[in-house]
Amino acid sequence: MRAIVDEETCIGCGRCVEICPEVFELEGEIAVNKIGEGNDISPQYEQLCEEAASECPVEAIMIEQ
Ligand code: SF4
Repeated sequence: MRAIVDEETCIGCGRCVEICPEVFELEGEIAVNKIGEGNDISPQYEQLCEEAASECPVEAIMIEQ
């Protein structure tokens, strides 16, 4: 599973970073996937990434299986 942040849409609220700091971090006012958008997320963080995507207020996080 991979997680992609749409930087055009992200408003930098930090919610995804609160939920899953192992994958997301803020770079300035935009969240980024710090493990790399092309890299698979470790299985132990998959559920948290899905939660971050569903909690994002502007739906800027896309999950790809
Ligand atoms: Fe950006 Fe959404 Fe993360 Fe907020 S939850 S920082 S809007 S990607």
